Amino acid sequence: MARINEHYSKLQAGYLFPEIGRRVSNYAEAHPDKKIIKMGIGDVTKPLCPAVMQAFHEGVDEMGQEKSFKGYGPDKGYDFLRNAIIDNEIKARGITTITADDIFISDGSKCDTGNILEIFGLDNSIAVQDPVYPVYVDTSVMAGRTGTTNEKGQYEGLHYMPCNEENNFIPEIPSKKIDIIFLCYPNNPTGTTATKEELKKWVEYAQKNKSIILFDAAYEAFIQEDNVPHSIFEIEGAENCAIEFRSFSKKAGFTGTRCAYTIIPETLIATDSKGNDVSVKKLWARRHATKFNGTSYPVQKAAAAIYSPEGKKQVEETIAYYMENARIMKESLQEQGFTVFGGVNAPYVWLKTKNGMKSWDFFDQLIEQIQVVGTPGSGFGSAGEGYFRFSAFASREQVIEGMEKLKNASL
Ligand code: PLP
Repeated sequence: MARINEHYSKLQAGYLFPEIGRRVSNYAEAHPDKKIIKMGIGDVTKPLCPAVMQAFHEGVDEMGQEKSFKGYGPDKGYDFLRNAIIDNEIKARGITTITADDIFISDGSKCDTGNILEIFGLDNSIAVQDPVYPVYVDTSVMAGRTGTTNEKGQYEGLHYMPCNEENNFIPEIPSKKIDIIFLCYPNNPTGTTATKEELKKWVEYAQKNKSIILFDAAYEAFIQEDNVPHSIFEIEGAENCAIEFRSFSKKAGFTGTRCAYTIIPETLIATDSKGNDVSVKKLWARRHATKFNGTSYPVQKAAAAIYSPEGKKQVEETIAYYMENARIMKESLQEQGFTVFGGVNAPYVWLKTKNGMKSWDFFDQLIEQIQVVGTPGSGFGSAGEGYFRFSAFASREQVIEGMEKLKNASL
């Protein structure tokens, strides 16, 4: 009889969003006459912009003609996209340590952040922020890097770094040596950011301890303030201790189209058990070439179109729309007496419930009283208890109506 990977049995039942879905559909079934306003899941709602659509169509047309048809693409992605990324995201930010060869085009940061640990030994210690994007934790569990959960729902063997109001959502630098550290800024779920000075401390820690920072910058496009870095490679020395994940999903509405990239600097080195230096980029290139066959040509062509003058303008307009939603939410919630974080450089608003109300109680009250859906903070980790996330990816009408309704709720 074939046996399963028993590490999967350690996973806590029900991923957060299915549980939200279950509660919302239960409510909808019992109250078919009620309109539900959804501001929970972090998925975009605006369509692909015209410049992207045009390039996408052209890409499909090229695939349909003998002279321009393409089979398998280059392992690491087409040069036209990797070069456009270098010009527009890397050089444009004054970063000189990264080249097009360090860029790996993929079909999503979820897969990349989930798969990257495969190239690192099982004996590495791993740190995650708490609250956290659940993928880093669950994929560590699946790979057998953790024990079972404790009473707080935290897996033994993972180092959790609480991020809360007291530390301004920037975790304390660990007092012990951690080999691999996941950091996400602008952060999902808290919507908060780290300044250059703060990231510098992490880079110094990683350099001193020969650790690697896995930096998830999926939301960098939403940064509005000048002093907030878009890339960890804006920090000197990060090219020796960091990998960065970027995605077109939220930046340009590619959640259903799928395109992202991972940056692994040439200069990033880890060691084998004999103490020999090994290029991390080479390992990932090997993994990528073996297990991935590329993002489709039309999709890469569509992604590159966000860097044309029209593409840039159109993408900026959509981001501005979401960020205006975030502003409306934040202001309204503050007027209603909530303590609110995020929402300035990220499409998420993170509110603290009043009188210590539990996150799931707040969720249930919202749907019962005013039929508004958000995401309970505790679903992202125990340090998220007592917090609640609203996503600014909803439509303007929904945001305004949702905030109006909230004024009439007793919470
Ligand atoms: N990283 C973070 C922090 C996210 O919130 C998400 C999506 O919600 C992703 C990565 C996944 O992005 P992608 O659509 O590129 O897989």
